Amino acid sequence: MAKIICPICKESRHIDLMDSGQFNLYFCNNCKNGFVHPFPKDISEYYPKIYWQNLGRFSFLRQCIHNSFQKLRAGWFRRYMSRGDILDVGSGEGVFGQILGQAFNVTNLEYPGAKVENKDVIKVNFLNWKTNEKFDAIVFLESLEHVTNPAQYLKKAASLLKKGGFIFVEYPRFGSLESKILGKHWLQRDIPRHLFHFTEEGLKNIANRVNLKIVTQTEIMSFQYSPYCLLASIGQMLGISTLNLRLGFIKNIPKLLFLLIGAPLVFILEIIFYFIEESPLGLIVLKKK
Ligand SMILES: [Zn+2]
Repeated sequence: MAKIICPICKESRHIDLMDSGQFNLYFCNNCKNGFVHPFPKDISEYYPKIYWQNLGRFSFLRQCIHNSFQKLRAGWFRRYMSRGDILDVGSGEGVFGQILGQAFNVTNLEYPGAKVENKDVIKVNFLNWKTNEKFDAIVFLESLEHVTNPAQYLKKAASLLKKGGFIFVEYPRFGSLESKILGKHWLQRDIPRHLFHFTEEGLKNIANRVNLKIVTQTEIMSFQYSPYCLLASIGQMLGISTLNLRLGFIKNIPKLLFLLIGAPLVFILEIIFYFIEESPLGLIVLKKK
């Protein structure tokens, strides 16, 4: 078998296999990051057409929850700045920028194969993107774990910052308690769409490698997102699928019971996780050194 090399630190020793499948998950004990190997040849095959859309029976509810999550993001973002030029890398339909409001001038980027409908979103490979613009802030909202070279992405982002500008990275915490307990059932593993799996220390290591200074590194409490992911992960671990109204009431009883008991439980668990600093969602704010 060919030697597995960590794509971040190029180390080949100290690498543990965490999970095997069509795409293996490895963890590098040198730089403390997880990575998928091999990378999919064509990543767009793994993004369904509806990846950015909320369709189906509960679409309205899902849209509301999604927007509310973006408001939460805008809330922590505004603690750092109240206006400015923002670049959202991996913006999806650009909802975060819309919610930020008119004081911000937001440029949205997505990768060339992204199935987004918003015409204002520029579809381009960020590393090849040529621009003379500079930004007050560049955000990667759960997008950095999707790219093939996160260190290069951060380096490029640093080169596009105005003086005193910030880089924000929101990411699933691979080292969090629920990730460790749920293992391959943890929804945020999302292999092979998540090519990298960052720990606190791992992301710090990457920032250091590209000469970025850490302003803050913290966890995020999200009632709109984390409890749902935890419930879905536990459901997957127990082999309980989502509600299927076509099956009729009787067959849905075990699923309904799971939802009735599980939903309040995961909310309580997420509050506990937050207070013991084990929330599954992390945020790191970076600046040029
Ligand atoms: Zn490494």
